[in-house]
Amino acid sequence: MVDRAAAALDLPPGLLEQIKAVNSAIEVSFSLRFPEGYRRFQGFCAIHSDHRLPSKGGMRFAPEVEHDEIQALASLMTYKCALVNVPFGGSKTGLRLAPRDYTTPQLEEITRRFSRELIQKGFLSPSRNVPAPDMGTSAREMAWIADTYRVLRPDDIDGLGCVTGKPLSQSGIAGRAEATGRGVQCGLREFFLHPDDVASAKLSGTLEGKRVILQGLGKVGYHAARCLEAEDGCRIVAIIESDGALYSETGLSVDAVKCYKDEHGGLVGCPEGTFTQEGASVLERDCDILIPAALEGQITLANASRIRAPLIAEAANGPITYGADEILRAAGKIILPDLYLNAGGVIVSFFEWIKNIQHISFGRLARRLEEAHTRRLLEAIESTAGTQLDPATRDSLLPGVNEPALVRSGLEDTMSYTYQEIREWVRTRNDVPDLRTAAYADALQTISQTYLEMGL
Ligand code: GLU
Repeated sequence: MVDRAAAALDLPPGLLEQIKAVNSAIEVSFSLRFPEGYRRFQGFCAIHSDHRLPSKGGMRFAPEVEHDEIQALASLMTYKCALVNVPFGGSKTGLRLAPRDYTTPQLEEITRRFSRELIQKGFLSPSRNVPAPDMGTSAREMAWIADTYRVLRPDDIDGLGCVTGKPLSQSGIAGRAEATGRGVQCGLREFFLHPDDVASAKLSGTLEGKRVILQGLGKVGYHAARCLEAEDGCRIVAIIESDGALYSETGLSVDAVKCYKDEHGGLVGCPEGTFTQEGASVLERDCDILIPAALEGQITLANASRIRAPLIAEAANGPITYGADEILRAAGKIILPDLYLNAGGVIVSFFEWIKNIQHISFGRLARRLEEAHTRRLLEAIESTAGTQLDPATRDSLLPGVNEPALVRSGLEDTMSYTYQEIREWVRTRNDVPDLRTAAYADALQTISQTYLEMGL
């Protein structure tokens, strides 16, 4: 995919090879004592690019984690950050384990030990490499990592910036937990603002009433589907999870299905819709928008030709393989690519990291001043007009900017601006026929410029 985009650029010979290469990677192995004996763990960290520092990317805990996968996901982070103008390199960290096989205290011990390995080897710090939640990890693990870093590096005044996605009370930022899902919503909203683009997907109108199939009700999929259902009037007609799928033509309640899944550990027996164990086949059902928000490699050569959705929104990282992508494009499907659509997480991580190194929350200095200014403005308007504003309007205008509002505004702005940039490539360049090629071309242009200006 990167090569396809590079063909549309005029990069100096050899530069693409430098951009594509993984700059450094480690594999660590450590053992911990459990009641039944020692258990060995294997972890991986790849810094694909440190042309900008720190490098940034998620830390995943999953049984299938391996070296190549971590390197590939690290490279995706490089292109993602460059595309959305987050001035970071790209990285990924992974630990091979199934979190559900461990108790919370065991997971804490494992996480702390893995973090120590990474910190001591120079692969985790606020200035070098900053992980964030990914598959199998959450704010809880990030808090353990931040605390481990604080214990090992007490003199680092910026230590809290060694991970993002921390709990709000541990110097996290408002809106980070839902950021990736919200970003998916922002991307889809922006797409539907362009009637030509909507028509190219053989759709029309707005998001209102669009039939959505969601794969994965995790951190990303849940927030994306909840926002699209509650705020845009989308109808979530199917939800696919690891144990099967639920279907309802009249629309599923995302919150009700999520509550059921949290309580019962899966979708079997959920009364909200019709259950089938053949989850993967539901990807192929008729709908307007298909949102894969789970694992990579879900749409492959084996099922690509049977996908009916005209618009595919890649909320997961790498849900469509290269071969499948070719089939889907040839079939005229429109794909909102992962490096754009799921960038909301790293965009808000960037805001959290800035908050951590500047040691003050956004809006704190200006809020009262802004309120006083707005109050004076409203009073002037009222006295000039000789009438009072109604209290509801007054109250909605008065509050000064606060952190949640600023984060939301920064996320929405970045997602809309980036979409406009990539659609411009498609609109103006014959050799850039689709949004994924455009997104990679845009990212490659930014990265190559950085390399060329700083000198290799
Ligand atoms: N895991 C997320 C991703 O793949 C977030 C990365 C981050 O915030 O650093 O984009």
